[in-house]
Parts: sequence; C-alpha cells; structure tokens
Amino acid sequence: MLLAGIGMTFSHPHLHADELPGYTDTPIIPGQPWHVHDAHRPRPRVVTPAASFSLNAGAPSDAVVLFDGKDLSQWQGENGGPAGWKIKDGYMEVTPAAGSIRTKQEFEDFQLHLEFAAPEVVKGNSQGRGNSGIFLLGQYEAQVLDSYENPTYADGQLGGMYGQFPPLANPSKKPGEWQSYDIIFEAPRWNAAGQLIKKATVTIIVNGVVLQNHREYLGPTKHRELTSYHETRSSRGPIGLQDHGDLVRYRNIWIRPLGEIDQP
Ligand code: MG
Repeated sequence: MLLAGIGMTFSHPHLHADELPGYTDTPIIPGQPWHVHDAHRPRPRVVTPAASFSLNAGAPSDAVVLFDGKDLSQWQGENGGPAGWKIKDGYMEVTPAAGSIRTKQEFEDFQLHLEFAAPEVVKGNSQGRGNSGIFLLGQYEAQVLDSYENPTYADGQLGGMYGQFPPLANPSKKPGEWQSYDIIFEAPRWNAAGQLIKKATVTIIVNGVVLQNHREYLGPTKHRELTSYHETRSSRGPIGLQDHGDLVRYRNIWIRPLGEIDQP
C-alpha cells in the first residue's frame, strides 16, 4: 500500500543525522537542481504563527465532517477493515500497530481542514519525530511532521510535498500544541485516451501561513525515488492519514468537495 514506508528515517553514510539529515545518492528531481530529499537543499525559514487563531471551531454548513471527535465511522483501515486508532478527549491518535487509515468516501477536488498535534513528549529526530501525513486521493502526501527545532531535509518538513517540494516556511508550533492544517487540492485529470491533461495541484496553509501555493505534484508520493503519473489514472480517492509509528493526534477534520462556478 502506498501509505506504508514513506518518509522513513534513514542513516547517511558520512553525516550524523542531527547535522545534515538527507540524501545525496538519490535521483535528481526533474526540473530542479536537487536530489530527492536533498541534504543540502535550503530549509524553509522559521515563522512564528500569530499568537491566536481559530481552532476547533466547527465546520461550514456544507462540509462533510470526517471526524468530530467522537467516532471513526467515516474511516477504515488500509486493507478495508475497521480503523483502529485510539479516540480520547475529542481527538484521534495514531495507533502504531493499527496502520494507516483512510476515509470510506472518495473525493476529487476539495478543501480540507484538520488540526493536529505532535507528541508532547519528544522522541526521535528528523523524520523519526512526530511523523505522519495526509494522503490526498490516498497517493499525494502533504507531510505532517514535528518540525519544531527538528532539523531534517527540506522536502520532508511539515507542509512539504514529500520528496518533491519543500514548504515555503516553517510555522511549526511546539510539540503538544494544536496546529491548523488547511488544504485546497485539485485532482489530476486524464483524457479518454488516457493522456494526462492536468497534474494534481495543492495549496497548503498551516497555522495561517501559506506553505504551498497551488503547486503541481510531480506524481504520487515516493520515498527516495522519482515519481510520475504513468502508474495511475485515478482522479478520485480517499483521504489517508499515515501511521509512521509516532503518536500524532488529529481532530476537527472536515472536507468540502469543490464544484465549478456558474453551476449552482
Ligand atoms: Mg509522513
């Protein structure tokens, strides 16, 4: 399954992970001067979010509520069984043995809101610290990571398009604090002949700070390899949440499928 094995911790043969985590032996990303997960790619600058902004404030009236803090009825496990994550005090928490989860419903173009918190007790470093992820159509990862004073490679940071594009900034709050994560996603499209006519695009705003601005995915998310749209023809899919072994929490998850103008 695509959710598994992505964003794993690694060891570099010459560098200690705390100094310059990343890779120099991976392929060059087409159209960019950088390796996949390049250790030398500039890291996003740190931005302190506004002192307060709206959190846990409900959903617009036409939203599909995917998690209201009470149950996982909208979710299933990776292989279609029950979603086995723990629920407590209005949030769900990654439960490592249970694996990644995904929505039962599938979506195309949408606005997605959620809130997350990295584990208050810091454990691990780089990609091994507070790692999870939001898998759009089950294939395109918007990275979730504890990026608060946690050096890691640029394209693996919070709000990164994992292995493809770093975020524009690092607005991480401290471990244990709730953070907002908003996504506007447009699915890729193929014509009747099976040719790609539109790549997937994403806009990501975390804690009120734009991290991706309508950027195109190069293809479904991969770890340490190049990607392309050749393996997929799918314009619809679920929202996945990644089990990367860290006790990341989520709450207030809702989604609004997006239509077109002039079509009431
Ligand atoms: Mg991840």
